[in-house]
Amino acid sequence: MIKQKWRIPPTQGLGFKLSKGQTVRITDVEGEQVADFVAYRVDDVRERLDPGVTMDALHKLKVQPGDLLYTNTYKPMLTIVTDHVGQHDFINPACRSEMYEVLYNKKNHASCYHNLNQALAEFTIPVPDQHYPINLFMNTIIEPSGKITVGKPLSKAGDYIDLRAEMDLIIAVSACPCSESACNGFKCTPIDVEIM
Ligand SMILES: [Zn+2]
Repeated sequence: MIKQKWRIPPTQGLGFKLSKGQTVRITDVEGEQVADFVAYRVDDVRERLDPGVTMDALHKLKVQPGDLLYTNTYKPMLTIVTDHVGQHDFINPACRSEMYEVLYNKKNHASCYHNLNQALAEFTIPVPDQHYPINLFMNTIIEPSGKITVGKPLSKAGDYIDLRAEMDLIIAVSACPCSESACNGFKCTPIDVEIM
């Protein structure tokens, strides 16, 4: 049963609350679209989802159903219930306008950093110096040499991940506005968010 549903238009963001025990479904509507995902604890927003801690606690980069996602203070924040894709990024920060200047020589580009800040503003969460999201569906490949490449997402149209809240949360999601690389298959498309 769906309680609430939003469609994030291409290149935009969304903020919402998720209560403990509720599950959120993030769907790649057309396929090959990354969704930057951040979460904060409602009663103390200094506690947030932390991909680095999650990698440390799980001893891995690839998550699967049943795995927990952790906060910066090593508390379980979300549980992966279902995952159609199995390939997400834990190492890249949110894209920001300065990144587009440096990598693509484009000024004032839309960005996940800006989208997430806007989405979180209505919940009076202070703007951080940078966002370190879990980048859902992002296909980052670390080669044995240490070289990092970003391939097209493995997600096909309609693929989704279900995440259950282990505490009351404020969540923001950005449909990544990068059309310049394989990150989003060279095209920006929508992301659906449903509270189940
Ligand atoms: Zn982005």
